[in-house]
Amino acid sequence: MIASSSATSTTRDSLGRPLRDLRISITDRCNFRCTYCMPKEVFGKDYQFLERSALLSFEEITRLARVFTKHGVEKIRLTGGEPLIRRHIEQLIGMLAEIPGLDLTLTTNGSSLAKKAHALKAAGLQRITVSLDSLDDAVFMAMNDVDFPVAKVLEGIDAAAAAGLTPIKINMVVKRGVNEHSIVPMARYFKQQGHILRFIEFMDVGHTNGWRMDDVVTARQIVDMISKEMPLEPANPNYTGEVAERWRYKDGSGEIGVIASVTQAFCRDCTRARISTEGKLYTCLFATAGHDLRALMRNGASDDDLDTFIKGIWTRRADRYSEIRSDKTVKLEKIEMSYIGG
Ligand code: SAM
Ligand code: SF4
Ligand code: SF4
Repeated sequence: MIASSSATSTTRDSLGRPLRDLRISITDRCNFRCTYCMPKEVFGKDYQFLERSALLSFEEITRLARVFTKHGVEKIRLTGGEPLIRRHIEQLIGMLAEIPGLDLTLTTNGSSLAKKAHALKAAGLQRITVSLDSLDDAVFMAMNDVDFPVAKVLEGIDAAAAAGLTPIKINMVVKRGVNEHSIVPMARYFKQQGHILRFIEFMDVGHTNGWRMDDVVTARQIVDMISKEMPLEPANPNYTGEVAERWRYKDGSGEIGVIASVTQAFCRDCTRARISTEGKLYTCLFATAGHDLRALMRNGASDDDLDTFIKGIWTRRADRYSEIRSDKTVKLEKIEMSYIGG
């Protein structure tokens, strides 16, 4: 048995970074095949997704969430794969919502949000992030690669707003030659809707999406494009370690965010840990290996054992992948984003 450890504390890693955010992937499956995340050539008909028994149960997820809050985690984001295809997700949200003081949110492709927004809110979900890469059907359908129409995602966003899952954030991954023409129309539309649009530089997550630096439209270029039509000025971060750099419209009509993980690495303030669908703990989005929390739990570890294990992993953490990205690191066999959670 591992020795017992203390109650709530701020656990810091080897670079002095606290543990504040936890992202939990609750399924490795998805109804989309976004070319930058789950390309069809890899995630085709024969792809072996995890067996149901391999997934963390709702009880296991909630137990881990409680243990992580003892180390300073204040925010949990459910992700995947597509989290809304995990059956009875409302039940899980209800269980997590009982943890005092926790900021609970979720990232979704929005495909079933119109149906589920009210139930999610009623279960205790506070707010939501919806991914949408274009308002142009042809572009969006080519990117999700399953011909899913824009209108249904917009319907989902409207339903989320009506249900009070606010503030709503919209994630748009930008890939050169694919959807950069959608940047300004997206900014215009969501400025008017009052939702926060966040542009994400196309990243070299996983090792199957064929990432090349040439495909990255930089955060700087994105801000310049929008600013020409709708002038922007920098805004202060809401808190240390915020992933998106904030820019507000000079006319006072809202803000956008840019997530420049390729061109302006923000590792030095990175307070995020991730738990994969089958319960492995990863201390970086670009990790090549995780630490098996599921095995510990299923082998009878106590909460104190989990506590000590997590503390040990986090205190040794030295990850700063984006800061040291190179031709060599890009080629590493990194964990896929649909498994580790975005
Ligand atoms: N299926 C949900 C969705 O799409 O919102 C949640 C999981 S998805 C992996 C989480 C976020 O990661 C999405 O906003 C998605 O656009 C983003 N993402 C996936 N692959 C990416 C890549 N290669 N570069 C940048 N962002 C990526
Ligand atoms: Fe699915 Fe989200 Fe990945 Fe697209 S980005 S394939 S919606 S998990
Ligand atoms: Fe955090 Fe790793 Fe991303 Fe750096 S590369 S910001 S350490 S997740």
